Amino acid sequence: MRRIAIVGAGQSGLQLGIGLLDQGYQVTIVTNRTADEIRNGRVMSSQCMFETALQTERDLGIDFWKESCPPVEGISVNVMNPERPGSSLFSWAARLDGNGQSVDQRVKMPLWIETFVAKGGKLIIEDVGIEELERLASEYELVLLAAGKGDIVRCFERDAEKSAFDKPQRALALTYVQGMEPSEDFSRVAFNLIPGVGEYFAFPALTTSGPCHIMVFEGIPGGPMDCWQDAKTPAEHLQMSLDIINKYAPSEAKRCANVTLTDDGGYLAGRFAPTIRHPVMTLPSGKEIFGMADALVVSDPITGQGSNNAAKCTALYMKAILGRGEQPFDRAWMQQTFDAYWDYAKHVVAWTNTMLTPPPAHILQLLATASKRPDIASRIVNGFDDPRTFAPWWFDADACAELMNSDTAEVC
Ligand SMILES: Cc1cc2nc3c(=O)[nH]c(=O)nc-3n(C[C@H](O)[C@H](O)[C@H](O)COP(=O)(O)OP(=O)(O)OC[C@H]3O[C@@H](n4cnc5c(N)ncnc54)[C@H](O)[C@@H]3O)c2cc1C
Repeated sequence: MRRIAIVGAGQSGLQLGIGLLDQGYQVTIVTNRTADEIRNGRVMSSQCMFETALQTERDLGIDFWKESCPPVEGISVNVMNPERPGSSLFSWAARLDGNGQSVDQRVKMPLWIETFVAKGGKLIIEDVGIEELERLASEYELVLLAAGKGDIVRCFERDAEKSAFDKPQRALALTYVQGMEPSEDFSRVAFNLIPGVGEYFAFPALTTSGPCHIMVFEGIPGGPMDCWQDAKTPAEHLQMSLDIINKYAPSEAKRCANVTLTDDGGYLAGRFAPTIRHPVMTLPSGKEIFGMADALVVSDPITGQGSNNAAKCTALYMKAILGRGEQPFDRAWMQQTFDAYWDYAKHVVAWTNTMLTPPPAHILQLLATASKRPDIASRIVNGFDDPRTFAPWWFDADACAELMNSDTAEVC
């Protein structure tokens, strides 16, 4: 029985650990927080996942919230007018072909930890540094580092060629609320683009106390939405969230007249630089550690792709591990496995990065055209499930013009 260790009990580490146990592997997960600490701690993400990524969870039988989590049935886009603050330039909405879902990681990870242990997985609670990695590398045939944004992942060398930014591009904040009015017609990620200020979006989710909505703020650094350091308490954070949407997205504020914070841990503020890292770390002993998901490819959450990427990365790594049979997990195999993942993730990164800089004219024109062309709106919305479908028309003005001039968006 092959012995594998995974560092990190998040989306990728647990999903891979449970999947490998089901295939008869001996798996140990080493992580720095217990199920109870996660359950009783602060929110970590807004974790909206789309159809293809959710299918990877269904494939393993760990989609425990398909009935209890409210669905995300579509996405709307509202672009605010920079000349007349508070008024919209245009807005539109389209349905997703398959529903999305957001299960608070404080709900998901504790149950997945318990599932992992119930299936015979070994769980060690420990903060892993180089010394612990050395120990794991001497005991296991493969050590995967799935530590997300933990400090230890900085030991993977940054890939300067693939990393477009060396600084955070947005000041991020999350506010989990109850009492938000539902959107009209169908539930959605209600995405608001506020030129010069940033982005605000909200969608339904499941948290520790039941259904809720998550408000996500993406403030341009130094701008008016880069303000969270002034909120010192949960109540101040909620008030700041409401003040921002009252001022910059008043149509969304109408839905928030009666909102309350879900709990004292239902908020977060922070920032990080989108970064791509080389996939293999060589320890002082010469042993190698292989990275996965956010540890190697961390994007800004503006397009809501990180958990989706983590799930897809897991499915791909699992296939590569099973396909390896009894052969050693050597450096060449690690590089080849990451390259196969990057072949997908590079499209997500390229598209996400375009959302972090002022949009070129053809993108604004495309978004405006979508308000009159439901087929184009649908194409954009469903691209969130598979961002590879944005090429070439999202990136190239000529291909974009061809799409807008075609009778149907499906042919381009
Ligand atoms: C504000 C915000 C909003 C987001 N919204 C979305 C969204 O809507 N949709 C989406 O798809 N993605 C979203 N994401 C991204 C998503 O949460 C991550 O991409 C995803 O959780 C990454 O999974 P992972 O397995 O790589 O890491 P994680 O899920 O972060 O797991 C890392 C694990 O490693 C553990 N760990 C860390 N360091 C150590 C150590 N030294 N020793 C032992 N254990 C360690 C942690 O405790 C944790 O268990 C968002 C992120 C943020 C910050």
